[in-house]
Amino acid sequence: MKPASFDYFDPESVEEVLDLLHQHGDEAKILAGGQSLGPLLNMRLSTPQIIVDINRVTDLEYYNSDDTGLKVGAMTRQSTLEDDNNLKNIQPLLAASIPYIGHRSIRNRGTVGGSVAHADPAAEWPAIMLTLDGTVLIRNSTSSRTVDASDFYLSALTTDLKSDEMLVEIQIPSWAKTSGWSFVEFSRRHGDFAVLGVATHLTIENRQCTKSRIAIIGGGPIPIRTRKAESMLTGETISDELLKEAAEQASKEIDPDSDMHASAEYRHHLASVLVSTALRKAADRADEQGGK
Ligand SMILES: Cc1cc2nc3c(=O)[nH]c(=O)nc-3n(C[C@H](O)[C@H](O)[C@H](O)COP(=O)(O)OP(=O)(O)OC[C@H]3O[C@@H](n4cnc5c(N)ncnc54)[C@H](O)[C@@H]3O)c2cc1C
Repeated sequence: MKPASFDYFDPESVEEVLDLLHQHGDEAKILAGGQSLGPLLNMRLSTPQIIVDINRVTDLEYYNSDDTGLKVGAMTRQSTLEDDNNLKNIQPLLAASIPYIGHRSIRNRGTVGGSVAHADPAAEWPAIMLTLDGTVLIRNSTSSRTVDASDFYLSALTTDLKSDEMLVEIQIPSWAKTSGWSFVEFSRRHGDFAVLGVATHLTIENRQCTKSRIAIIGGGPIPIRTRKAESMLTGETISDELLKEAAEQASKEIDPDSDMHASAEYRHHLASVLVSTALRKAADRADEQGGK
């Protein structure tokens, strides 16, 4: 199928984009890498009257890091980050997760802002944002605001973004030196969306866990932070038994559907196995960083 007809604009600056969104509101849709919006348009699941193509807004293609953390402009392609060998030193959890996003050709076009804003519950970026306490910088034609990732995802494919707003940057704070991390996912073939995936981040000081984050993708309509499981770890001395108990708890905090790829029951089972594996890896890495 071909998309329904629309008017097309390709502005060169953020200000022009925001003016167009201000003028057209709900009728307009931003086109970034087009890897998710393209199919939606072709299947007429999305029928905007206005397309605002932001591929010429090169000001949003950047990333930089300092002691406070990492900032990535919305139009940065996934492959740009993937190709930076230094990313694993700056933010290893992020570096490890990017190759799981579809295939290389998708990562060449797909953007960080598009992945974060599209809010697919099985996508990698939203879970990474939750695990790393990321925030999104949002602008409209008159103001800007910052939203925590944990408040950004509202329901399936729906975020806190308003129709006149654009995501311009994502921000990830730096983490404690004694942090460990892990990203594991199960998909039927490499490059497919995950049947289920887990991102974890543990900070361990003097054998005690001082911070824990567990986010699950493919476990419900939005990426899910399993907060009860996290709180079972925080303040405690890490042991194999505790990690397994936390993984069991995490599997109870998801709300997956059954679909052609897996039953809900199987996804619950996968969650307990993958969270257990992910927590063990994260704890080991924290130990290696001197957390024990
Ligand atoms: C075959 C295939 C497999 C894939 N597998 C995976 C996978 O395993 N994991 C994964 O995470 N993704 C996967 N994807 C999706 C891919 O990562 C997309 O690139 C991504 O979801 C959207 O990024 P995009 O830049 O292409 O955005 P677009 O498709 O251009 O836009 C997506 C949505 O976000 C909105 N949007 C885009 N940019 C902004 C912005 N700056 N501000 C506000 N709204 C904005 C658009 O209006 C649209 O609603 C796959 C895609 C394909 C085609």
